[in-house]
Amino acid sequence: MISVFGSVNMDLVAYVAAAPGRGETVTGRAFRMIPGGKGANQAIAAARAGAPVTFIGAVGDDAFGPRLRETLLAAGVEVGHLRTVPGPSGIAHIVVDDEGGNSIIVVPGANGQMTGPTEAELAAIARTDVLLLQLELPLEAVVAAAREAKTIGGGDAEPYTVGAGPRPHARDGARGGSPVSVILTPAPARPLPDELLGAVDVLVPNEHEAAAITGVADPERALDALLERVPEVVITLGARGALYGSRDGERLHVPAVEVKAVDTTAAGDTFAGALAVARAEGRPPAQALRFAAAAAALSVQREGASTSMPSRAEIEALLA
Ligand code: ADP
Repeated sequence: MISVFGSVNMDLVAYVAAAPGRGETVTGRAFRMIPGGKGANQAIAAARAGAPVTFIGAVGDDAFGPRLRETLLAAGVEVGHLRTVPGPSGIAHIVVDDEGGNSIIVVPGANGQMTGPTEAELAAIARTDVLLLQLELPLEAVVAAAREAKTIGGGDAEPYTVGAGPRPHARDGARGGSPVSVILTPAPARPLPDELLGAVDVLVPNEHEAAAITGVADPERALDALLERVPEVVITLGARGALYGSRDGERLHVPAVEVKAVDTTAAGDTFAGALAVARAEGRPPAQALRFAAAAAALSVQREGASTSMPSRAEIEALLA
């Protein structure tokens, strides 16, 4: 079982020949409203990859709130802990030009009002094997979720041991269950405080985020630097696959599945959601990474974010 403590946005996308400059008005070609936000995307990816998923986040009391809730629900995500707060939902205002370039304004809205988990939300997290986090909520809220998740027992199945790296910070089974494994996608990239990384089991940056966090461009060396702060790290390398390392000394390079990419939006979120599912099932790192790479490869062959995420059956068929 997976919990996601993260963002949900309505993406408002205008398609235009060339983006307007200051003071200019242009006529666009098309407009689409697409539910997004890294938290919601990862939750939907995990649900489609075959796990029960609980989403913890916030929408506003505007017209987008019910639509965002409905999108998660329709994807099979549990939304009993999705808060509704006064004010607007989070939105991303996106302009896509004919050359495929884009400019984006994110207004956090309800996401910006998120605080650390309530007692009830923490109890929901405690029932799961993996907690997925990103950085689109206020940092204090993310830090609180990570740290509090590590102080509780979690998981309603087998203790989480297979493939799990060392977790010196875990207070195993404080409430009698197995510990919740915390996976963080550090996006958007920003400096990461030790109080956050000290509560993270697996960090999953893309190569740009890894470089921004460490100041080291070479992914192998960035991996070494990150392993000084987190027990396990996966750096995704786009069409070049992913690098994995653990403090146990294990190193892997998992190539991407060769496909013709149509739209790589949310490839990283699909990868993270599927990785969480494989880890919650206790799969060892090499297998979990192959499962995640297969899910992401399927998603880049289709347009959109949540609309492009593959089902469990599709992932298994690709791996067979
Ligand atoms: P992000 O979307 O966060 O920038 P990446 O671009 O690194 O993340 O992609 C995440 C994962 O998605 C990669 O590790 C890879 O497995 C898969 N992926 C991305 N682009 C492609 C591609 N062109 N072909 C196949 N797989 C891809």
